[in-house]
Amino acid sequence: MSAVLLSGHEVAEALAAELAAELATLPFIPKLAFVRVGEDPASVAYVRGKNRLAQRLGLATELHALPEATTQAELMALIAQLNAEPALDGVLLQLPLPPQLDSKPVLEAIDPAKDVDGFHPMNVGRLWSGQPTLVPCTPAGLIRILDHYQLPIEGRHAVIIGRSNLVGKPAAALFLGRHATVTLAHSRTRGLEGLARQADILVAAIGKAGFVKPTMVKPGAIVLDVGISRVEGRLMGDVAPEVAAVAAYLTPMPGGTGPMTVAMLMRNTLDAAQARRREPCG
Ligand code: NAP
Repeated sequence: MSAVLLSGHEVAEALAAELAAELATLPFIPKLAFVRVGEDPASVAYVRGKNRLAQRLGLATELHALPEATTQAELMALIAQLNAEPALDGVLLQLPLPPQLDSKPVLEAIDPAKDVDGFHPMNVGRLWSGQPTLVPCTPAGLIRILDHYQLPIEGRHAVIIGRSNLVGKPAAALFLGRHATVTLAHSRTRGLEGLARQADILVAAIGKAGFVKPTMVKPGAIVLDVGISRVEGRLMGDVAPEVAAVAAYLTPMPGGTGPMTVAMLMRNTLDAAQARRREPCG
């Protein structure tokens, strides 16, 4: 048996077409601001990719590329300025920040209505309360992939390995919201292999290349690989390639969950733009 590959590119293209059609009906053009500090090559590439898709869809964008030596006060001042800009719908702060900067107060300073990454504590609280809100893009992309391929979530056991605020925790909230039974595992979890083997849907968001071995996967499971590591110049996921012989469905790496993260950011920008115009709050 060889797993069916769940193409993130295919799902992202379908979402892009949906967003382009929706944009054409809007009487305004949503606007997204990228804030990047320093020239970290990965951050430069990520922002370039996000900006490229935003522009292809016809969103308005602006890039604030700040010098590496930016101070906390300068960054906070920029966020305040972007919050106050009425025509701006989304603010994306590209992480990580240089070591002199603390991301937490900056993320908390972003207007929750413009928080297209879904990291603000108010949006996190709404997510866990089951209220509609802006949801972190990577876990939202996982749900979207499953929906696109009509793979049911309700009643299934989702085991998520990794409990970051970026991926694991919001993924747990989303799967719970879709009536999965959720196990959230991490580095101190005991008996991880046995737990993972119980999963109908296994999410690997660890950051360790090839961590998930075939012995950790129930035959016929759906495996969603979020991890990205560079090994000897090659991009690798958290899931060992041999898992394809056990799983029924598997996201490839690259071309799986990554493209969905970028596409969901556009979804969030449109959602933020429409919500702000329904309930103007600055
Ligand atoms: P993170 O903040 O470093 O979190 C990693 C998580 O993995 C932690 O919860 C950690 O547990 C857990 N972990 C580490 N070693 C483990 C082990 N041996 N057994 C079980 N759990 C273990 O990373 P992140 O931001 O969530 O990102 C995870 C990966 O996804 C990275 O490779 C990142 O590059 C990638 N990523 C991909 C996308 C995408 O679009 N595909 C988007 C974002 C991130 P503790 O909490 O106990 O330390």
